Amino acid sequence: MNKVQLTALKTFLNTPKNIVILGHKGPDGDAVGSTLALSIYLKKLSHNTTVIVPNDFPDFLKWMPQSDSILIYEKHKEKANFAIENATLIFTLDFNSLSRVGEELQTILEQSQTPFAMIDHHQLPEAYATYQYSDVTICSTAQMVYHFMEMMGDLPLLDKDIATCIYTGIMTDTGSFRFSSTTATTHKVVAHLIELGIDNASIHQAVYDTNSPNRMQLLGVAFQNLVILNELNTAYITLSQEELDKYNFQKGDTEGFVNYGLSIKNIKFAAIFIENKQEGIIKISFRSIGDFNVNLFARKYFEGGGHNNAAGGKSNHSLKETVSQFITNLQSHKNELANE
Ligand code: 5GP
Ligand code: MN
Repeated sequence: MNKVQLTALKTFLNTPKNIVILGHKGPDGDAVGSTLALSIYLKKLSHNTTVIVPNDFPDFLKWMPQSDSILIYEKHKEKANFAIENATLIFTLDFNSLSRVGEELQTILEQSQTPFAMIDHHQLPEAYATYQYSDVTICSTAQMVYHFMEMMGDLPLLDKDIATCIYTGIMTDTGSFRFSSTTATTHKVVAHLIELGIDNASIHQAVYDTNSPNRMQLLGVAFQNLVILNELNTAYITLSQEELDKYNFQKGDTEGFVNYGLSIKNIKFAAIFIENKQEGIIKISFRSIGDFNVNLFARKYFEGGGHNNAAGGKSNHSLKETVSQFITNLQSHKNELANE
């Protein structure tokens, strides 16, 4: 955020405001962690805050401080619309295109006269925010909330609950501090969070070690369905609606599956295609190691986006057609993916 915007925002936040904080559709640890952290912080500045996410978030995040106060737009439309109508500022966190909140909410936001403030680390931000804090070099929006508090001169307000939310966002978006987005600054921030008394081991356990037997069985199916395209150093997984239903799929169950593709020797590009009959789409996640830019790939072929090494998208075609389209698309990237 530039100095002019920061000063203006500081002045604006000098008196109590009604503030809505929005996360993206399919909320992950960073979306939930960053929105809750910001909300708890702004409440300490005497603002009235409402956190809204478009649809439900996984159970493995439902222990988070104040997570039960989050309005899920699909379920709490009336309350959420009321909060949006009465807001004097709308924060959008962990996304940078209004299309990321789903069509209905997107229309409402586009018609709103309320100023927006963006905190986000994805590529190519859209220009809807009066106050824009966008930095693609930072591993997570949660870490940006820490820096935002720092810029506001409010780090002394950082408490254990805020720290817990920030830690969860950083941990989940960095694959537990192993992706290249994890910097010395990330570790310094995390050191501070641990000094504030967060229980980092328990947070890890709550997020990663609460698997249901069904999820493990579904992972087995995913492994069975894994296809390796040796000459393109690419691996992909498919999961059909039937397979998801067989193992009583719950939100978040497929989180992280795509990363197994990348853990295979020589694989540079991994994808997972997940059928969603209710929405009539195939939801896709892309991951890469090194220079292959999955953000551009997702944008070009699958109405998506994200980061250089982690992105997502969707397709309105059948699972089979989507995969064959993917394989066709790959042919244009042989030079980048194949061994020299
Ligand atoms: P995931 O594969 O874990 O759902 O998402 C990976 C990254 O890509 C995240 O940063 C996420 O916000 C972004 N992403 C996922 N799906 C979409 C999409 O449909 N559109 C856009 N623009 N970004 C996406
Ligand atoms: Mn994020």
